[in-house]
Amino acid sequence: MAGDISTVFFDAGNTLIWIDHEFLAGVSGIADVSVIKNADKISRFHLNELLESKKQIDFGKEYYGGIIHNAGIDGDDAIEIFARIKNAEKIFPIWRKTNLQARPAVQAIKSLGKRTAVISNSDGKVAELLNACGLADLFEFIMDSHIEGIEKPNSEIFLRAARRMNVSPENCAYIGDIPAIDVEGSKSAGMTPVLYDPLDAWPNWSRSLRVRNLCELPKVLEL
Ligand SMILES: [Mg+2]
Repeated sequence: MAGDISTVFFDAGNTLIWIDHEFLAGVSGIADVSVIKNADKISRFHLNELLESKKQIDFGKEYYGGIIHNAGIDGDDAIEIFARIKNAEKIFPIWRKTNLQARPAVQAIKSLGKRTAVISNSDGKVAELLNACGLADLFEFIMDSHIEGIEKPNSEIFLRAARRMNVSPENCAYIGDIPAIDVEGSKSAGMTPVLYDPLDAWPNWSRSLRVRNLCELPKVLEL
């Protein structure tokens, strides 16, 4: 239960680091970044619905495609923008914006004597990315699904992280932004899940703890 948490695990993408909304607006020819942020919110909601229906999905295609569609762009224009995004990804990471809440939140948790690490579905480069974003030093380890050969929501990756910490899953919390991946996966491993919902995509959420700002974590977890 929440009062016994010794260790807090974090998701990386859209939790510690953000997708670059300004970049997505730029390649889409949209001058108002709030249009992309709103499209992202809707896209995340639909992405989670697909994941909860247990469909095998191409995450990038569904997520980026959903943002473009929900920004009001379809047809050939959407195909061209998607190609621009994929092309850019070959050159630089588009998940590269440091969440400004991340360092103060993690430092506050550590100052309470708690331990912290990362569990991420990624491509083998998440440690490098978190280092580039100035956050890697905050964590005892950064677990990357590509390197582990197993990905969230499989409970094994969460259990493996707990074993690596030498702690019981019951004494761990996990925070991430996609319910079907982060909340369900960590819950199935026996951890306390927290949904990070900065865009308010799930305003009536009741299936786990929920925060809209990472700095609320010590309070909601009763650390
Ligand atoms: Mg995420």
